[in-house]
Amino acid sequence: MNNKDLATKNNSRKTAAKSGLRRNLIWLVTVPIMLMGIVTMIVAYFFGYNTVSKEVHQGLMNIAVATEYTYEDIFNQTISFDDKGDGTYKVNTGNVAEASDAAFINKIKDGTGIDVTVLYYDIRLLTTLTDEQGDLLTGTVVSKKIVDDVTNANEAVFYDKLMVYGENYYACYMPVFNKEGNFAGMIFAGKPTASVKKEVLMSVLPIIIVSAVMMLLGALIGANEAKKLAAVIDKEKNFLGQIANGNLRANFDAEILKRPDEIGEMGKFMVHVQRFIRDMIERDTLTKLYTRRIGESKLKNTRMGFIEDGIKYQMVMGDIDHFKRFNDTYGHDCGDLVLQTVAGVLNRSMIGKGYAVRWGGEEFIIVYEDMDFEKAYEHLKEVREKVISEVVEYKGELLSITMTFGIVPGTEDELDNIIKSVDNLLYIGKEGGRDRIVRYDDVDKIE
Ligand code: GH3
Ligand code: MG
Ligand code: MG
Repeated sequence: MNNKDLATKNNSRKTAAKSGLRRNLIWLVTVPIMLMGIVTMIVAYFFGYNTVSKEVHQGLMNIAVATEYTYEDIFNQTISFDDKGDGTYKVNTGNVAEASDAAFINKIKDGTGIDVTVLYYDIRLLTTLTDEQGDLLTGTVVSKKIVDDVTNANEAVFYDKLMVYGENYYACYMPVFNKEGNFAGMIFAGKPTASVKKEVLMSVLPIIIVSAVMMLLGALIGANEAKKLAAVIDKEKNFLGQIANGNLRANFDAEILKRPDEIGEMGKFMVHVQRFIRDMIERDTLTKLYTRRIGESKLKNTRMGFIEDGIKYQMVMGDIDHFKRFNDTYGHDCGDLVLQTVAGVLNRSMIGKGYAVRWGGEEFIIVYEDMDFEKAYEHLKEVREKVISEVVEYKGELLSITMTFGIVPGTEDELDNIIKSVDNLLYIGKEGGRDRIVRYDDVDKIE
């Protein structure tokens, strides 16, 4: 599989994973919000239904009681029925009330929309109810079941859905008793179920609208946050992908690193992993300086930077003086400690100035990037002083270190030639007695 195939494969995987996570997160956030909203609406509806239903019960009952007071005398009269021969009756109520005297219940119907019937036993004596043709149901009888229900209960009976001539009613049948205390009739008060439902709906509508708006807003905000989170995770995934593809110099989003949560923490870990792998590959295990292989490639880049963009560089070669003596006198471990000490000074000193490479056993190349020769030279003098001041303690012995350096300005010349010239200065320094810096322009004076 060549690089292009790998890239294509990686891209396709990237797209699939991206949409999958985003979709899952959005579902994860919005579904509970929507469910909560729907549950709130259902609860609100039933709560509203219950409340309105109680109010309607009470209202129907009040009207039934008021009606009973109004027509009380009817139930204590002798009443006769004249069959008019066409299926309707004329009801005579002695000298108290005419069957047609329905002014009170008509007013109630007009004012409240509640239908009322005054029943003498099971016969509708006065009523606002009409049949499908719009004729009043005066003289008709109610079903035996209702009479049985009311006489058995001996108190008002409520029906949520009572079919009366093709229309469902929310109904109350209240029993009425005569002077002797015997069942003499009933008062019906009823409201079409559809209008009660409408009332319920109107009472819960504000709650339903508010919860629907909240639900939508919540879902939108949630989905947006989920999208943002998915984008951040996507960036982390891409960064890991870069590491997996061997790009150990990719930059990670600084904003994500600032996050005070697990995502920010994860980002920091990934940057550490990147640096750890990079150091493992690029740096020498003992000294933590760049290896010669990496040093060579960095040198090539530095020289190209000078050739193409005119970025100045200065090249130094340094070597520990009489290093063999540390090994020979105190052992290899002591030599290693001296090497680490020197490398530590070089590493720290070069931060922001350039880089240091372990070129050979105890031989180093230091490169100053984007710096004038004199400034680099001044800095190198400080580095030399620092090495001298680093006294190594080994098994109770205090060991001081000195180094010899050569320094030349970086040029367009072949790297091998530049290295040869700086190596030559180092040799001159060693010959001249060590513990010194030899500049390229010192050579004339020496020779
Ligand atoms: P000069 O002042 O002329 O540079 O003398 P020198 O003793 O420093 O130079 P020489 O080249 O004679 O000795 C270098 C020694 O460094 C030889 C080698 O065994 C030792 N050496 C190289 N790498 C390591 C290392 O990683 N650890 C230790 N302890 N010694 C090393
Ligand atoms: Mg040496
Ligand atoms: Mg050497």
